[in-house]
Amino acid sequence: MNSTYGKVWSLKERVAQQGPTLIDRWFVKRHSGVELMLQAVMVLITGFFLVSLPVRAEPQSVLVQNRSSEVTLSVLGIAQDAGHPQVDCYAPRCLSAWRGETPASGATALALTIKKTSFYLFDAPPELPAALYQVWRSSRLRLTDLKGIFLTHAHMGHYAGLLHLGKEAAGANAVPVFAMPRMKIFLETNAPWAQLVNDRNIRIRALAAERTEVFEQVTVTPWQVPHRDEYSETVGYLIQGPNKRALYLPDIDQWHRWNRRLVDVIRQVDFAFIDATFFGAGELPGRDMSLVPHPTVESTMHLLKDLAPELRNRVIFIHMNNTNPMLDPASAHTGRVISEGFNIARVGSAFDL
Ligand SMILES: [Zn+2]
Ligand SMILES: [Zn+2]
Repeated sequence: MNSTYGKVWSLKERVAQQGPTLIDRWFVKRHSGVELMLQAVMVLITGFFLVSLPVRAEPQSVLVQNRSSEVTLSVLGIAQDAGHPQVDCYAPRCLSAWRGETPASGATALALTIKKTSFYLFDAPPELPAALYQVWRSSRLRLTDLKGIFLTHAHMGHYAGLLHLGKEAAGANAVPVFAMPRMKIFLETNAPWAQLVNDRNIRIRALAAERTEVFEQVTVTPWQVPHRDEYSETVGYLIQGPNKRALYLPDIDQWHRWNRRLVDVIRQVDFAFIDATFFGAGELPGRDMSLVPHPTVESTMHLLKDLAPELRNRVIFIHMNNTNPMLDPASAHTGRVISEGFNIARVGSAFDL
């Protein structure tokens, strides 16, 4: 973990040090020495796009200053499956995102880029075109450079984007899709996914829980977790780079139902991207939240409150429902999470592995 990541920022510093987005890094690399003002102009211009960069100052230290590694994990989306703003949502939190006053985001997904010559995706969000645009914008990599998609499970936000690989869209050629056994069968035996298989747009490779897959400079290991498994298993991924390890675990029912202890897992990794669907209880008025069980961010922070600051700082909350005020970088809830020593994933954040 680099020193910037571990530093405790004052609020003023955090605003001044607003984390480098993919476009910031692109810009800085090619125009070293330019003024912050020019970066801000660039950010404003690119803010036009739907999966946009934060347009308000974000009270958070984000995390890449040192670009030494050849393996980078980038955040392509941070929202729960339905994205943010969500369909038919015109509450103030959604209206501000529709209007571009606060950041919008597609469903949660990460990109693992290797030597800027190839990349892997973790999950295939419905907003796959925008996610791939982000990869292209930062590294100029195209769909033909995509070496694999690791799916966590068969819920809308995590695999619906596969449709963009079919004949109506990219007409992709045998993109490897890594899936657990039930997920594999589900895709192979149900339209419209089966058409992708039959037309060889995708080639499904079977994973097994706890079995490590080895690629170039990285290894990926699926860890099965308890979740609403209507159509598939659900897994998180342990991603091991040349220097560092990350956990990607966007969905889990409850920490105590898992066969691992979260505190032990956090000790094993450098970056833990974990389920932050809901901030607190009662967040879905009129709906029974027990039907969509997730550990709330409040309960997760409570569970981890006795960890050393260096360990709490490894936590990067992700997969936020549109009701979760942490989606707004300027909200009081965001400030509280940061002040308690945790991090919140933002679109464009990148992490050296
Ligand atoms: Zn999800
Ligand atoms: Zn899910």
